[in-house]
Amino acid sequence: MSAIELIEPATGEPLAKIAQAAPDDVDRAVRAAQKAFLTWRKINPRERGRILLRLAALIRENADDLARTESRNVGKPIRDSRDEVALAADCFEYYAGTTNKIAGQTLPTAASGVLMTFREPIGVCGIIVPWNFPIAITSWKVAPALAMGNAVVLKPAELTPLTALRLAELALTAGIPEHVFTVITGKGSVVGEALITHPLVRKLAFTGSTEVGTRVMQLAAKDIKRVSLELGGKSANLIFEDCQFDRAVKSAVSSSLGNAGQDCCARSRVLVQKSIYDRFTKALVDAFQGVKMGNPLEESTEMGPLVTAAHRQRVMQYVEAGKREGATLATGGDAPSGKGTFLRPTVFLDAKPEMSIVREEIFGPVVAVMSFSSEDEAIRMANDSDYGLSGSIWTRDVGRAMRVARAVEAGNLSINSGSSVHLEAPFGGVKKSGLGRELGMQVLDHYTEWKTVYLDVSS
Ligand code: NAD
Repeated sequence: MSAIELIEPATGEPLAKIAQAAPDDVDRAVRAAQKAFLTWRKINPRERGRILLRLAALIRENADDLARTESRNVGKPIRDSRDEVALAADCFEYYAGTTNKIAGQTLPTAASGVLMTFREPIGVCGIIVPWNFPIAITSWKVAPALAMGNAVVLKPAELTPLTALRLAELALTAGIPEHVFTVITGKGSVVGEALITHPLVRKLAFTGSTEVGTRVMQLAAKDIKRVSLELGGKSANLIFEDCQFDRAVKSAVSSSLGNAGQDCCARSRVLVQKSIYDRFTKALVDAFQGVKMGNPLEESTEMGPLVTAAHRQRVMQYVEAGKREGATLATGGDAPSGKGTFLRPTVFLDAKPEMSIVREEIFGPVVAVMSFSSEDEAIRMANDSDYGLSGSIWTRDVGRAMRVARAVEAGNLSINSGSSVHLEAPFGGVKKSGLGRELGMQVLDHYTEWKTVYLDVSS
């Protein structure tokens, strides 16, 4: 089995070597998972819940180690990694509580019969995740899948498999039977496609780019596999003139530079009402210049490097495109000298709707700022996108906040906040941002099938 070498983004030094699996390995993993599924699905749901609670406790016990590993592998600030590890534990706890609460029904029918439904697990779920929030996104999918009695074969991103591998070890310690949760590492085009097309995989849950999501859907169509997709975004941050100014500025920074902008929910289109445009953009540029970029393992670091040199190169091509297309580069756009794949926080002012920096997902610390005059124009501009994942609305006018929230085409919006993910609420996108919802009780629909059974009781 050949190996993939991981490079630590903050130092450029080798970090680890991981196995590069082949289609045969995927076949063995899926067959073993299918066998394990037949046992796991029969375990008393209360016991399944207890096992998942033990896994949550083990994640908490190992939180420091997991967070450090994630920070070194992805390059994200340690404070963020800690939050994401805590969210992973929260997620297993939440779904541990669902194992004995998801139930079928008995339904009205003639006296000569009993009409009932069951919620059944689907089987082996193939789960494919990206590199930007590895342990968090893994948990959003694995926890509900296991809670409902499915088996999982997970393919982490080839760049960031380390916390997923550790999670699989902890799962065994928690008492999840062998092969119920398997992690298999390697390339998307090899391991990912072998998983998607394997005849025993019944359900696919994918988070990643819209381009690969399209491919997943095409490949899954052949066998009518269940598919859920969490894809790209280009979310709008709508700043009205009556906003709480300082809070809006602060959030415009954190909601676009979190994870160095490598966030599907990044508010990378900042739309500002004309009457406050000059004042707001000046404050935004100042705040971008004040962001503390540096070693992800230092407590005070606010922004780390980008995930790889190749990805930074891709982001810098967008910076060049922004300049070429006529936007004003107000700050950033360049890489500081020294080790690591850092890129300075970047603001483009006076962007236009047709520019590539406005239309395409850059996935880096780059925002494009535009102005609007009226509420209607703000809504039109927000919706002028192929994507529809997230967004924020900043205003003190409750009526306006609700009108805009109802009109913006996105799966998740926040008012006077930059937040997107709430464990208890459904999360996902419209348009090219995806299909289906993660989290909340809604995700359980993706991991169960309804079965209807009619019993004739006539004598
Ligand atoms: P990507 O699409 O390149 O890769 C995602 C995963 O798919 C990786 O594990 C990769 O190995 C695998 N893959 C690649 N090609 C494949 C193929 N042909 N068949 C099967 N699997 C394949 O995405 P990325 O660069 O890792 O992550 C960034 C993207 O993820 C961005 O577009 C971002 O918006 C999106 N994302 C979306 C959400 C969401 O919840 N909507 C969350 C995080 C990231």
